[in-house]
Amino acid sequence: MARSIRDRADGKTVYDILSRSLKVRWEDYTALVAYADRPRSPFSLLVALVLSQNTSDINSIRAYRRLKERVGLDPESIASADTRAIEEAIRPAGLASRRAETLKRLARFVIDAGGEDFLSREDPFKLRETLLKIKGVGFKTVDVFLSLYRRAPVFAVDTHAARIAKRWGLVGGKAGYREISDALLRFFGADASDSAHRLLIALGRTYCRARNPRCSDCPLRDLCPYPEKATDTGKSRENPK
Ligand code: SF4
Repeated sequence: MARSIRDRADGKTVYDILSRSLKVRWEDYTALVAYADRPRSPFSLLVALVLSQNTSDINSIRAYRRLKERVGLDPESIASADTRAIEEAIRPAGLASRRAETLKRLARFVIDAGGEDFLSREDPFKLRETLLKIKGVGFKTVDVFLSLYRRAPVFAVDTHAARIAKRWGLVGGKAGYREISDALLRFFGADASDSAHRLLIALGRTYCRARNPRCSDCPLRDLCPYPEKATDTGKSRENPK
């Protein structure tokens, strides 16, 4: 029995299968909606990522568009706006007052650093450390930004990626963010890290759901060790606990 998907396939093979089998529509992903916005702005992308924490893309995309329309998406507009106006605009994303404070902190940070160019110029790993010091900005937010906007060799881990890496046996069940991120980066390689991140989200939404994963329909069913492990431990393939 394979302990890890690596025993049966390399990252490129898995990536190719996922690319062929899953559809990633840019309009379904908050980060890609912000990335496609014009003029392209690294600050707007960070704003979108803060709005997308712990909520659905439908809600965060709505909040992003309302904020753009009502307040603006540049650091100066957000820093000078009334906090209540920001809260009202981003209400569809939930946790409006906490997120509004984070956006204000982010805007002031970027202004103090000399403007948006700082986000494009600063060494990505130094930038990661600096952004992580801002309250409300977490690992996933920073890593999505760095891999999508800066093409940096990092792998952003959301709940789908974490669950899948564990089911694939790339990490143990208790692995934390950094361990999972490093394992996925090694598996897929730096060049594929940004698109592989979204393919894992699509896989998690379509087949590898938290409850009742659809293993028998999954394009990776012959490579993934999880269905066998689930059967071996007496768990139902379709309803593992
Ligand atoms: S759905 Fe099942 S077979 Fe597919 S990746 Fe998830 S655990 Fe593996």
